[in-house]
Amino acid sequence: MLYQRSSALFKEAQEVIPGGVNSPVRAFKGVGGTPIFAKSAKGAYVYDEDGNRYIDYINSWGPMLLGHAFGPVVEAVKAKAESGTSFGMPTAIETEIAELAVSMVPNIDKIRFVNSGTEACMSAIRLARGFTGRDKIIKFSGCYHGHSDAFLIAAGSGGATFGTPNSPGVTQGTAKDTLLADYNNIENVKQLIEANSNKIAAIIIEPVAGNMGCIPPKKGFLEALRLLCDSNNILLIFDEVMTGFRLAKGGAQELYNVNADIVCFGKVIGGGLPVGAFAARNEIMNYLAPLGPVYQAGTLSGNPLAMAAGLAMLKAINSDENLFKRLDEKTLYLHKGIAKVLDEFNIEYTINRVGSMISVHFDEGKVSDFDTAAKGNNETFKTFFHSMLNQGIYIAPSAFETWFITDALSYNDLDETIAAVKKFVKGIA
Ligand SMILES: *Cc1c(COP(=O)(O)O)cnc(C)c1O
Repeated sequence: MLYQRSSALFKEAQEVIPGGVNSPVRAFKGVGGTPIFAKSAKGAYVYDEDGNRYIDYINSWGPMLLGHAFGPVVEAVKAKAESGTSFGMPTAIETEIAELAVSMVPNIDKIRFVNSGTEACMSAIRLARGFTGRDKIIKFSGCYHGHSDAFLIAAGSGGATFGTPNSPGVTQGTAKDTLLADYNNIENVKQLIEANSNKIAAIIIEPVAGNMGCIPPKKGFLEALRLLCDSNNILLIFDEVMTGFRLAKGGAQELYNVNADIVCFGKVIGGGLPVGAFAARNEIMNYLAPLGPVYQAGTLSGNPLAMAAGLAMLKAINSDENLFKRLDEKTLYLHKGIAKVLDEFNIEYTINRVGSMISVHFDEGKVSDFDTAAKGNNETFKTFFHSMLNQGIYIAPSAFETWFITDALSYNDLDETIAAVKKFVKGIA
């Protein structure tokens, strides 16, 4: 494949945008080479500036659950744009999407919309701290909750790819209030709670970790966290920015039948426009301004175009009774197909999968937390990535990312992907 235009555009971009990108992982630093510049996308495919077509497994890092340029979303945004793109006043559509979200997700009464997943998580911990009157939070190594200061500590993909788990600019003062636990290690959490009794406001977790590859919670792990939180008056925050409206209508709360106290959303909830949200039961949400003392605001929050896209997306998900079954089946098909090829050629691997999230690790040990995810062979991954890219398959340019399966993928696309994996494996075997 030729990447002439992408190369030229990247060169130009680097002159005026740091690293040529507006979010670091796009720069291909983890895998080397020149990032491809997207020009358009439709359904399962993304097209670059050189006219190459790719079967897309990134899907804007999650939002495109139903494929690119999904008809109802595009129509809704177009129609809304005609009547004004922002007012800074309340609008009816905000209530409409809030009612729908509250009806789909278990255990929430009220939801507040923001502009990104980062904002959602940042606001959720402020709310938890205000509500409990405590300062510290527990997060898990390798979990990503956006780029706000409190979370940039062992924060998975971006940081992991660049080998900088902590960022300069995050103060010691902030860092000391973020306690780190190992994913899937309940004893570790217990020890932290005991050592910091009555000081912990919240435990925040990706109920299925998706930013160090896809790592499912061990059986009973989320339930045990729930019990620990209950007995220590700690709020349990599920960061469902990736899993929300993806693993089930009600997200991971529904899939695992565990209730969180605060839930964060992003990605799918915006249908591809910049949207985040956080939600909880009344008792907690009423603590938020203007009802309560915890301040949180946003000039463009609840933006009509963003709400129109999100609403069209949630409606489509809510009205499709077979969606999650179809996504599951497609992902399982891909899993089995890739596993068969890797087995055939005796390649060491682990594949993790939950619903439409899947990750391939080039290491045969179980991948259940950040340490085991980091053990994967990064060199193999790099050649794998470039081989797939050259064959028209676009997976995330980092060994620490999940692949996202969309409803737009056909079984032909999946077969083409499996064939590409086979070609790669033949080349290295
Ligand atoms: C993507 C992501 C975020 C951050 O969302 P942005 O919209 O990129 O700010 C937070 N948490 C999780 C679990 C995510 O996957």
